[in-house]
Amino acid sequence: MSQVVFLVHYHEIGLKGKNRSSFERRLVDNLKAALKDEQIEMVGRISGHVIVRMPGSSTQQQRERVYARVLATPGVARVSWCQCCELDPRQYCLAAWEELSKSGDFTSFKVHARRSNTVYPKTSLELNEEVGSYLCDRFPDKKVQMHDPDRTVVVYVIQGSVYVYVNSEQGVGGLPVGSAGKVISLISSGIDSPVASWRIMRRGAVVLGLHFSGRPQVADTSEWLVQDIIERLAPAAGFGRLYVVPFGDIQRRIAASVPADLLVLMYRRMMFSFACRLAKVENAKALVTGESLGQVASQTLENIMVTDECATLPVLRPLIGNDKREIMADAQRLGTLDISNEHAADCCTLFMPRTPETHCSLRKAHAAWEQFDHEAMLDEMMGLLEYRSFDCPAYAAPRALPHVHRELAPARFEMASVDSSATAEASDR
Ligand code: ATP
Ligand code: MG
Repeated sequence: MSQVVFLVHYHEIGLKGKNRSSFERRLVDNLKAALKDEQIEMVGRISGHVIVRMPGSSTQQQRERVYARVLATPGVARVSWCQCCELDPRQYCLAAWEELSKSGDFTSFKVHARRSNTVYPKTSLELNEEVGSYLCDRFPDKKVQMHDPDRTVVVYVIQGSVYVYVNSEQGVGGLPVGSAGKVISLISSGIDSPVASWRIMRRGAVVLGLHFSGRPQVADTSEWLVQDIIERLAPAAGFGRLYVVPFGDIQRRIAASVPADLLVLMYRRMMFSFACRLAKVENAKALVTGESLGQVASQTLENIMVTDECATLPVLRPLIGNDKREIMADAQRLGTLDISNEHAADCCTLFMPRTPETHCSLRKAHAAWEQFDHEAMLDEMMGLLEYRSFDCPAYAAPRALPHVHRELAPARFEMASVDSSATAEASDR
């Protein structure tokens, strides 16, 4: 009896030389986490691939769900839906026939046999001939074509088993989450920053979201939308935590001290300064934003310079050269667009000037920056910080957070927050 196995192919991981096995282990752990609610027989490494083996009793619906999850896991370049057979020609020839029959209309095909670390006495050439002649007998009207056939039947002998497949699908690509360190992603409930977070996550970084809410000056809707967005991105298992700072009162105090046209820039300098403080606690190595050059007033080169001055870490801007329509297409594909389209007031909509400065000089920015006690406010913000942890096997939370934190409620209507350092420690374990 053959079994359904998903054979996971990766490209970039394979290029990592001596690090390869740690990359592979990371991918296996991430797949196990992504599939933790599914019935899986095993996920493991095998000769330059990862395999996900389904139990014989699994239904087609369960298999399709698992297949989709595997395709969406960063680090997965391609997935082949295989039958895994014993080293028995009757089994693997029959599997080849079944897979070819299921593959839709075709006029030409070829067999591509490969062997890897095997003691099986038949060579690849002999396997090609054996399976090829079996298929020719059963598909007499189809043409065998070596160059560019409609279908390729792959017969892959690996360690005492034969994997047979016709169909492969492209996965999400990138690198396994956890292979590139941690970043702090400034995330709003807008369209851009969820896409930016996902792009960096796909390159292997564990993402810690940091959201500045307008609470208590406005409702907490944006916080819930951001949590919904992160849940949509859950298949990638790359969000370790969401941190939320209720920023409304501090904004109000800043608004009372500086000229209105510089407010947005002052808020953004506060955001970057605070993100770097948090990065220190988390040992994160970079900030991420969803900025795109010239999109809004704060994203001109001059204003980017004014905000970047407060960052002591590299600021990654994966969308800097993208048009809004391209970003929206990505958001649509990721399933975050409809949430981002819901209106929510957040700190950016609070105390907004009618005509913000678009080309601020550093001199002007420095003068405004000295009009309020930013260091004391940053300390205060650290004390107000709240968080919620997400499923991310590659994330290790800091053992000790320097201040008491409140944890965001896990369900929408349970806002009773627990105000104790014990909570922080419990989730650090
Ligand atoms: P987005 O860019 O995510 O669509 P937006 O358009 O509301 O949201 P912008 O004014 O374009 O935000 O801000 C540029 C970037 O600054 C965002 O992509 C995000 O990285 C960061 N940012 C904006 N608002 C917030 C917020 N409330 N909390 C955290 N980060 C924010
Ligand atoms: Mg934007």
